[in-house]
Amino acid sequence: MSPTRPAGPARTNGAVSFWYAADGLPDRRPALDGDLDVDVALVGGGYTALWTAYYLKQAEPSLRIAVLEKEFAGFGASGRNGGWLTSALPGQFRRYAAAHGRPAAAAMQKAMFATVDEVVSVAAAEGIDADIRKDGELHVAVGPVQEQRMLAHLPALRGEGWDEQDMVRLGAGELADRVRVAGARGALWTPHSARIHPAKLVRGLAAAVERLGVTVYEDTEVVAIRPGAAVCRRGTVRARYVVRALEGFTAGMPGHRRTWVPMNSSMIVTAPLDRQVWDEIGWRGAEVLGDEAHAYCYLQRTADDRIAIGGRGVPYRFGSHVDTRGETHVSTQCGLAELLGRLFPAAAGAPIDHAWSGVLGVPRDWCATVQLDPATGLGAAGGYVGHGVATANLAGRTLRDLVLGHDTELTRLPWVGRKVRGWEPEPLRWLGIRGLYVAYRAADRREAAGLGRTSLIARAADLLSGR
Ligand SMILES: Cc1cc2nc3c(=O)[nH]c(=O)nc-3n(C[C@H](O)[C@H](O)[C@H](O)COP(=O)(O)OP(=O)(O)OC[C@H]3O[C@@H](n4cnc5c(N)ncnc54)[C@H](O)[C@@H]3O)c2cc1C
Repeated sequence: MSPTRPAGPARTNGAVSFWYAADGLPDRRPALDGDLDVDVALVGGGYTALWTAYYLKQAEPSLRIAVLEKEFAGFGASGRNGGWLTSALPGQFRRYAAAHGRPAAAAMQKAMFATVDEVVSVAAAEGIDADIRKDGELHVAVGPVQEQRMLAHLPALRGEGWDEQDMVRLGAGELADRVRVAGARGALWTPHSARIHPAKLVRGLAAAVERLGVTVYEDTEVVAIRPGAAVCRRGTVRARYVVRALEGFTAGMPGHRRTWVPMNSSMIVTAPLDRQVWDEIGWRGAEVLGDEAHAYCYLQRTADDRIAIGGRGVPYRFGSHVDTRGETHVSTQCGLAELLGRLFPAAAGAPIDHAWSGVLGVPRDWCATVQLDPATGLGAAGGYVGHGVATANLAGRTLRDLVLGHDTELTRLPWVGRKVRGWEPEPLRWLGIRGLYVAYRAADRREAAGLGRTSLIARAADLLSGR
């Protein structure tokens, strides 16, 4: 394939995501029709709700649990993501440490390492074939400035729960032995990460909770949440505990417009690449891979030999508007295709089979939360800032302990019960978030053009946004 040939727009745009292209969108489960009494109502049908249902039912088989999903289980980010089952903290170490001390924040990092293995082992135990391969995660430094940032970051990690074997520095040659990224100066590699097929995981999880006796209601929109009840269009579910598991859709729930902003992330996937292309690229393993840019990208080699690459695209829509079907602007598709060609010239011009987008939840302080108020029975988890694939499992186990009233290592982790201020009203919210990404892209451009150090624009943007 010629590096100069531009990749056209994707053959399929939206249709939820590429991850449903092979098997089609799932048949919908019956909707709730009338009132219902349960012990726990879980609002949303993504990883967070399903893992919570899974662990609660395992611990207390007698609990009556209902999952209430507006579309179908896996319609949201859980069926659209980049398939990084990553141990990255869902937020910043310094914030968790500032509130609870460094040992507590480091304990959370260790819990994230263990969470990756937990997902892998439950998937195996439940017979969920989600193309899981744990070959770790590569953070590639493209160009000298990204390398400077990467090297500056490494010593700090040592005090943040990462031991030497948890994050390994690879020189340019060692990286090229694994994968050849154009302009790469080296990478950091962690073993604590796996590649997954998102939709296969969410579909398998939904089936697993049903086998345990949980009812998943689809086509069931919750229009209000209050203590003891989730109010749906065609009935009210009365429950001792009601857990909001809506992540990027949270702003649509009355009373939560400014709780977490829905941040868009967009992806494209190539057609399966020829053997000669893979011979040039290397990447024989299934490491998930990203760069160190401010507006960073994330990639996976799929089980059927494509490259899926994602990035921010249009970061945020005015008024926390959510575009549900996942259609992606052609300019975003082209931007991602160009980036793919820059990283892997051998794949430049490869046909793009599918483009899609989705929303993830971002709190004002860019750190995730899991919470349950025992007095009202209201709970929530999310705001995973793009690291929700593994974190939702940690949330599920933590919500299990909180609902059952158990004081455990999980309920003492620093993300439990945090109080975070809401986002600014519009138009400030839109201006701030759009401005942030304009600044990050400008900083990336200046650095790529030979600036020689991290751009002050990016530093100022970090400072102003509190990111
Ligand atoms: C394109 C993209 C790429 C990503 N890549 C990664 C990655 O590689 N690694 C990673 O760790 N994280 C990634 N993320 C983030 C991650 O996918 C999410 O954090 C995670 O899936 C959140 O799971 P959830 O169950 O909390 O929310 P969701 O999966 O979004 O589920 C929420 C559900 O609520 C439903 N819903 C909405 N409104 C209502 C209502 N009123 N009533 C009932 N139901 C409702 C929705 O239909 C949806 O199914 C990515 C996200 C996106 C969008």
